[in-house]
Amino acid sequence: MMHSVNPATGETFASHEPLDEQGIESALALAEEQATKWRLTSMDERTQLLSAIADRFDAHRDGLAEMATKEMGKHIREARAEVEKCGTALRYFAEHGPAMLEPEKIPGGKGELRWLPIGPVLAVMPWNFPYWQVIRFLTPTVLAGNVGLLKHASNVQGVGKLIADMVIEAGGPEGLFQNLAIPSGPVAGIIKDDRIRAATLTGSEPAGRAVAEVAGGALKKVVLELGGSDPFIVMPSADMDDAVETAVKARLQNSGQSCICGKRMIAHADIYDEFAERFTEALCSKRAGDPFDEESDIGPLSSEEQRQTVLDQLDKAKKAGGQLTGAEKPDGEGAYLHPGLLTGLDPAGEMRDEEVFGPVAMLFEAKDVDDAIRIANITPYGLGSAVFTSDADEQEAFITGLDAGMTAINQMTASTPEAPFGGVKNSGHGRELARFGLHEFMNLKSVFRA
Ligand code: NAP
Repeated sequence: MMHSVNPATGETFASHEPLDEQGIESALALAEEQATKWRLTSMDERTQLLSAIADRFDAHRDGLAEMATKEMGKHIREARAEVEKCGTALRYFAEHGPAMLEPEKIPGGKGELRWLPIGPVLAVMPWNFPYWQVIRFLTPTVLAGNVGLLKHASNVQGVGKLIADMVIEAGGPEGLFQNLAIPSGPVAGIIKDDRIRAATLTGSEPAGRAVAEVAGGALKKVVLELGGSDPFIVMPSADMDDAVETAVKARLQNSGQSCICGKRMIAHADIYDEFAERFTEALCSKRAGDPFDEESDIGPLSSEEQRQTVLDQLDKAKKAGGQLTGAEKPDGEGAYLHPGLLTGLDPAGEMRDEEVFGPVAMLFEAKDVDDAIRIANITPYGLGSAVFTSDADEQEAFITGLDAGMTAINQMTASTPEAPFGGVKNSGHGRELARFGLHEFMNLKSVFRA
């Protein structure tokens, strides 16, 4: 049984019976059957469905947001914003997607390039942005003419079901998008099944490795959107007010549980003391509290286990010589943790490989641009990065020097429908969103004409 447990109270408010072998078989058969039909639909039919799903997101916004907040604890304000963003992305692709699939002439040749569907794709998704992560998969699936099967994280099965229901409500045919209520155990068997053509996983590095190994053995393409320990670099020419405010936002979004949170702050020596003082004050004055209370800055972590993981990381950091400010664990019910800051750590030390998935930042001092890039690139991750500097040469040095899939200048990294999203190194490979994400699971056919 999979349970929906409210991390703010510890209450189990729903339980979900996992699909048995027969249930999985029926879902695969239905996906295969629908794939033969959906691939023949017109672009108009696909974009109309995307718009209709967007309408469902808008119409059900408050109920959808409430389910996310109850299942994984994000503040209701952020949950509502996530639901709204899904509608925006669906409409963006309804409008701009068809142009991304236009046939292209083969340059210098006689034929053309055509984008064709590949069939059923499995998506294994995490709980942290339970709607947005799924929309990043569902939207290109519908537009490409593929069909999708979702294995959502065990703790957000309520969200998974709501999304699948909305696709049907919007007029999507049975089998176009199915929510498989399953834990991770059956995933390997599903990937190996001949009816599944490819897989995508957003989640942790260990889960990514597990799925990539199976997919590699079965010769299936995978897109992997994995963890990150993003650098957030502040240079002397930065607007300090903006840098401090944005650093706090970047670290605390989703209670610190975002793959692209600024997790390692790196300040140039000339402004280190000023940034450290102002950032500590601004970060540690924020409070965790009831995610339905507008006064709370952040909600609880997604579960008691998630909070314990972060507390264990903080113990490890302290043993490695780190000084911790804040990060108090409130008494009483709920997986709450107040924001905090770690200083005095060796960037290449014991915490180098850790992705802290909670509201606690690390702060490092850099001598110059090269040193900031060295510290930034020291981790095995390479997802996002943010740089605050008004110096054009420095900006260029960071764009070319940072080993990351994304570099945001004088702003925090964000995931938007029009820009490709993904990482390098252990943060995964492949891209979601934009035309690059749409093309990942398509057959680029070369057509030769005599
Ligand atoms: P997770 O534990 O890796 O789980 C992600 C998904 O993978 C869940 O559906 C999980 O199912 C499944 N899973 C876990 N182990 C598996 C295995 N061995 N085989 C097949 N499936 C498996 O990650 P999470 O805690 O939900 O999410 C947090 C992580 O996601 C962080 O590392 C974060 O940085 C990363 N993330 C990355 C991006 C990105 O775009 N790069 C975006 C968001 C989050 P169960 O729940 O049933 O275990």
